Amino acid sequence: MIESRKDIDWDSLGFNVIPTKSMFKSECFDGYSWPKGKLIPYATISLSPAATVLNYAQSIFEGMKAHRSIKNRIVLFRPDQNAKRIAKSAQRICIPIIDEDYFINAVNLIVCDNAEFIPPLGKGGMYIRPLAFGVSPFLGVRPSKEYIFMIFCTPVGHYFKNGSQLLNLLVTDKYHRAAPKGIGNAKASGNYSASLLPGQEARAQGFDEVIYLSAANENLVEEMGAANLFAVSGKTLKTPSLGKSILPGINRDSAICIAKEILGLSVEEGDLTIDELLAADEVFCTGTAAVIGGIGKITKDDREYIISNGRLGQITDKIKKYLIGIQLEEIEDPFGWVYPL
Ligand SMILES: *Cc1c(COP(=O)(O)O)cnc(C)c1O
Repeated sequence: MIESRKDIDWDSLGFNVIPTKSMFKSECFDGYSWPKGKLIPYATISLSPAATVLNYAQSIFEGMKAHRSIKNRIVLFRPDQNAKRIAKSAQRICIPIIDEDYFINAVNLIVCDNAEFIPPLGKGGMYIRPLAFGVSPFLGVRPSKEYIFMIFCTPVGHYFKNGSQLLNLLVTDKYHRAAPKGIGNAKASGNYSASLLPGQEARAQGFDEVIYLSAANENLVEEMGAANLFAVSGKTLKTPSLGKSILPGINRDSAICIAKEILGLSVEEGDLTIDELLAADEVFCTGTAAVIGGIGKITKDDREYIISNGRLGQITDKIKKYLIGIQLEEIEDPFGWVYPL
């Protein structure tokens, strides 16, 4: 197996882009399937200033990680789920569908070619960012004729700079992330531009991130903008149901499976009220960047709520250990989630 490079300080990795050796790129005309594509040196790309991606955000993406596992091999986590999700996002944003085998093969290629950039076990992972976007120069608002699908990757450490410390979140009633019949359930770039200002304002006030309420009913919790939310009360886990504006997180689904099938908890997917969240025994969030983040403090209407005495809850900790344990092959994978390269 190709070892991690010796000239990178693996202990000081953050969540910044470190250029790697190569990236994958393919170009497709609307109405055709994606041609084979190839690895090219990691570099900037050039686009028309009128490209639909720049003007109308005709753009979708994915986020996944490769790790070195305890079995001393390189593994992905549920890449078939990312493949299925990007196909759904593509359909919503009018981008030619990227099929599952094509997607997984491209991810394989780039991870293997950049294996020396995968951190050593325990130092982080290699973040993989597939994207697809329209590049035709149109002034009118309509889908592009030509598209690029590319993947770049970069080694990452921990997403939140305070590492495994608990998160301090702000419930915003000033902004919504997404609308029920909008594009909140697609991994569309446009959703993220909507979250920049709320995130910036929250960080300026000392919070780590924002909790959004549902645009349809402000008594209900939506999600965090890049992570799904869970409330634990007794032996029950509750999270907002999919189907409206919630992004179907793969770590969300994995946490649900572990809770149900390994820990024997009951899981309710439905409406999660903000009152239930603030009164929960434990609150955590899930997403590829941070895997599972424990939440220690939530502020709403200038009132601060301390969750699980400001410590990492027991159930959160168990789910986190199982999920990370499976991802790194420290625990046997009963679900067939680990994908060795
Ligand atoms: C990607 C994403 C998540 C987390 O999904 P994972 O598949 O678990 O990484 C949650 N919310 C939003 C809005 C996202 O874009």
